[in-house]
This record gives sequence, C-alpha cells and structure tokens, in this order.
Amino acid sequence: MIRIGIPRALLYYQYYPTWKTFFEALGAEVVVSPPTTQAMLSEGSSRVVADTCLPVKVFLGHILSLVKKCDYVFVPAVRSVKRKVYNCSKFLGLPDMTKAVIPELPPILDIDIDINRGKRELYQAIYKLGRRFTWNPFKVRQASMAAWQAHLDYRQLMSSHGLTPPQAIEGMPGTAETQLEKHSNHPIPIQATIAIIGHPYLLYDEFTNHRLIYRLEQAHSKVLTPEMLTTEELGSATTRLVGKAYWTYEEEVIGAGEHYLKSGADGVIGVMAFGCGPDSVMMNMVRQQANRLGTTAFMSLTLEEHTAEAGVVTRLEAFLDMIHRRKRRQVAVCA
Ligand code: SF4
Repeated sequence: MIRIGIPRALLYYQYYPTWKTFFEALGAEVVVSPPTTQAMLSEGSSRVVADTCLPVKVFLGHILSLVKKCDYVFVPAVRSVKRKVYNCSKFLGLPDMTKAVIPELPPILDIDIDINRGKRELYQAIYKLGRRFTWNPFKVRQASMAAWQAHLDYRQLMSSHGLTPPQAIEGMPGTAETQLEKHSNHPIPIQATIAIIGHPYLLYDEFTNHRLIYRLEQAHSKVLTPEMLTTEELGSATTRLVGKAYWTYEEEVIGAGEHYLKSGADGVIGVMAFGCGPDSVMMNMVRQQANRLGTTAFMSLTLEEHTAEAGVVTRLEAFLDMIHRRKRRQVAVCA
C-alpha cells in the first residue's frame, strides 16, 4: 500500500480529515508526523534563512520527520479557496520551496488549488492528483466527493459542539460521541471566557504556543476559538469590520476577533507569528476595534522561535488577573 506523509503543520488543522478521506478512498495509507518538538523546530530552522516565519520553520521540521517513513509527502500549494481572496505568499510556493530546501525528501505529491481559475481547472487538478493512484476517473470523483463531505462534517462538528480541530480530529472516525462527551463535561468551574484568535497552526500547536489552551483551562477559563463559529458568523463579522476580505485568514483573525469582542468572551487573545505581514495588519485592526468598543479586554501574543515559556505564562497570568478584577468590580457595581 502506498504511504502518504502529511505534516502536522500549516494547513493540517483545516484540511486533515479532507486529505485523509481522499487518499484512503484511493487505497493509500496516511502517515502523520508526530507533534512538534524542539528538535523538529531546530532542524526545520536550519534549512531556511532566519527571517522565515515560525510556522514555516515548524512545517519543514515536520516534513523532515517524515523522510523514510512514507513513499510520498503531500504538500499542496493552496493559493485561493474563495474567489478573489488569497492565501499568504508562503503557501503559494510551498511545494517548490520544500523540494529546494529538503532534497532528500521522497517525491512530493502536490496540487495547485486556485478557485479563481474556475471549477474546471480545480477538477482537473484533483484528477491529476488522483491519477497517481488510479486511472479510473469515477474513483477519483468518488474520493473527492467523500473528501468534500468529510470537510463539511468536520467544520460542522467543530462549530456545533464547540470543539477545537485537534479535539475533532481525535474523534474521527466514528468515535466522535465519546470525544464530544469528554469535551463537553468541563470538570473545572469557569471563572472567565477567553477567546483565542489566529491561525490554526499557531493556536493548536502546543509546542509553538507553549500549551496556551491547556494553561487557560487550568486557570479555570472556558476557551473559545475561531473554528467554534460557523462560516456564516465568521463571514458576517469580517464584513462588518473590514468589508470584503482579501486574505484567506481574515476570517479567523478579524472575523473571530470582531465576533468575540462583541459577544461571548470576557477577553480576547490574538496569537500571531513574529515577522508575519498579514498578521501584523489584521491583529492591529482587531486591537483598534477592541479599543473603540472598550468592553472586552484584548491582548496580543507574538510567537517566535525564542519565545520563552515563562514570558507567555507571565503575560497570561497578568491578563487573567485583570479580567478577574474587572469582573469582580462589575459584580460589586451591580450589587
Ligand atoms: S500568514 Fe504569516 S505566519 Fe502564516 S505562513 Fe504566512 S507569513 Fe507565515
């Protein structure tokens, strides 16, 4: 059986169920890289120039961990999944960059996803990818339809049950109910509701963010994330704040930020990567909106290779202290 390696980085958190369903429907076996470690980050960093953003360095570390474990590595170039809304330039040349900096890699399976070129080109690209496994176009079509359904189910599972991508992935396949029960029974009394906004590869990579979600939960916080909102909620919040989106990730930063600043959260934490152009613009817009509204506390957390755990812990504690004090004051005023 052909083994396809999928790095647990970048678009993994958005599309893993989709890709896994597609490849398995075509008879392949999927191998996922392990969670990020310091060694993976160091190895990934050693292949690129220093000012490459942290998520790309982490991605390369994951790719390196898949060498010798699979027959192919899947590295798509996702340019655009919505008309006239574009991905960060790092994603556009990902297969070429990966090939260039990791020459010892097994062959790369790539696909160019650009919805602006029309549906016909998209189908052709999917068929071209599927042809590596079968010459039967109906089999490829069936695999792509199953993959699309898996994507919709995954999104629906997260938004309707308030799950993060790792929790939803953990519940696949067929064991979702066990996971839903597990994650819906919050064992700790809630003292604050904190929304975290940003790219999934920053929010859910526990090594990169120093276990941000775990730390918030240990501090008796209920954590909300962009994936817990529906596509419609994210889209309408983005439109309210900036009009038409230009970047693919505006919804998970600006849309989620605008939504949670106005409803459901005592505080919002914006997580971004040092040196990321799109993030610095988008997070600043959310910060300005938080200042304008003046109702919900906002803090941004910038992550990079040398971000110290102690620094993250100190900032979190200070932020939560401020929120708890604010809540106590509100209760006192009401009383
Ligand atoms: S959006 Fe920012 S963090 Fe993400 S890949 Fe692009 S530059 Fe890196």
